Amino acid sequence: MAHSHTTTPMRVRFAPSPTGALHLGNVRTALFSWLAARATGGDFILRIEDTDQERYVEGGDLTVFETLRWLGLDWDEGPEVGGPHAPYVQSQRKALYTEYGEKLVAAGHAYWCTCTPDRLEAMRLEQQHRGQPTRYDRHCLSRQDEIATHRAAGGTAVLRLRMPEGMSAWDDVVRGRIEFSNAEIDDSVLLKSDGFPTYHLAVVVDDHLMEITHVIRSEEWIPSTPKHLALYAAFGWTPPAFAHVPIVLGPDKKKLSKRHGAKRLLDYRSDGYLPAALINAMALLGWSPPGDEDILSVDDIVKLFDIHDVHASPAVFDPQRLDAINARHIRLLPPAELAHILGAWLDRDPESLLPLIPLVQERITTLEDASTLLSPIFSTAVIWGDDVAFPPKNVTVDQAITLLDACRSDVAANGTADPTGLRTRLTETVTSLGLKPRDAFRVIYCALFGQPTGIPVFDAMAVLGQEATAARLVAARERLVPASEQV
Ligand code: GLU
Repeated sequence: MAHSHTTTPMRVRFAPSPTGALHLGNVRTALFSWLAARATGGDFILRIEDTDQERYVEGGDLTVFETLRWLGLDWDEGPEVGGPHAPYVQSQRKALYTEYGEKLVAAGHAYWCTCTPDRLEAMRLEQQHRGQPTRYDRHCLSRQDEIATHRAAGGTAVLRLRMPEGMSAWDDVVRGRIEFSNAEIDDSVLLKSDGFPTYHLAVVVDDHLMEITHVIRSEEWIPSTPKHLALYAAFGWTPPAFAHVPIVLGPDKKKLSKRHGAKRLLDYRSDGYLPAALINAMALLGWSPPGDEDILSVDDIVKLFDIHDVHASPAVFDPQRLDAINARHIRLLPPAELAHILGAWLDRDPESLLPLIPLVQERITTLEDASTLLSPIFSTAVIWGDDVAFPPKNVTVDQAITLLDACRSDVAANGTADPTGLRTRLTETVTSLGLKPRDAFRVIYCALFGQPTGIPVFDAMAVLGQEATAARLVAARERLVPASEQV
């Protein structure tokens, strides 16, 4: 793979509409923008595009901030941090868009329109009937004086872009040359009758004023780009570079959606995924690192990433791959750091978790798995699973009693601090009883945890300590009635 790093610092932005929770697909786009900025020593700008009042969701912006912060995708300019182009929330920039809209009118690139929804609908139906593309027919273009009077008297109108004739073309950073015939492009609304700008006007004005060098966004916006290029030309501005990154598909090759259990990104946090693992997994959705190793830290990715290397083909998100990546990231953590993370996760003192780290680090896929594995150790009493057979299969009551008694007297004599010694001594008892170690040790597992599987049982005893271990062995012993006493 060609790998010539772009050294010119990029100014990029993530411009979500706060219409709900962020999902993996839109966050992947944010990640690519952030990486492009960090990889080139540029700036990452966060801008909230909240001009669509109908789709507005209360607190949607806070979810955006929380999601990006959890992942460590820090922004250099934007809400809460400020910057030279503040405000970074479009609803607070309304007057600006009106001003730029008026400039377009004055230069003949935009016109007012008062067509009613009914008229537009009838026009569309007729165009469809004739097999024509549905486009605004410029009915109002010749009525501008009339509409000016109407507006002066307090009447409302929308502002439309007068889409020029000819072609629109650009060299997309991801997809190469893209061309459109402008005949396919409608005269889009730029200002709505409520005075708010549409996405098209606001995005172009802001990307220009905020000096964005590279617009990195989902390929779903490709059909909008000719409109944006027309606006840049109308204003006499140089357009930024465009990088339309592939959409993210689910394992069934359909657009990732709730159907696939596409979650809110923050749900991965509550499910016990590490931010670094999500970044790693998302980075691979449309980008491949130059070497063979694809388990990468955020720093590694920043060093290797180049937006020019993103491929155009759709990216497929595989939840199992994320699990594998998360597990690998957990394995690679220094034990003290995992103790720290699990401390926060389990609400326990990280110091006290240190001895448990070797028991879980190789066994868990998510942090939540550690809760499951460790909860039998933390619970004060053994919670017996409903369907747990005790004694477990292949072991008689009398054999189980012998084992528990042997274990208890060994623990009383030697404590639990030497799991290997304890295991070796108990193995003698197991052999003398003619049992397989796996069957026999299941007795001890059940006695300590109320279930036959979990973390290594002798190590768990070391963590439980002499007293708790002995108490649990006694309690389990009391559940068993020797054959001689049975009626
Ligand atoms: N507000 C748009 C969105 O919700 C931004 C698209 C763009 O990046 O230009 O995705």
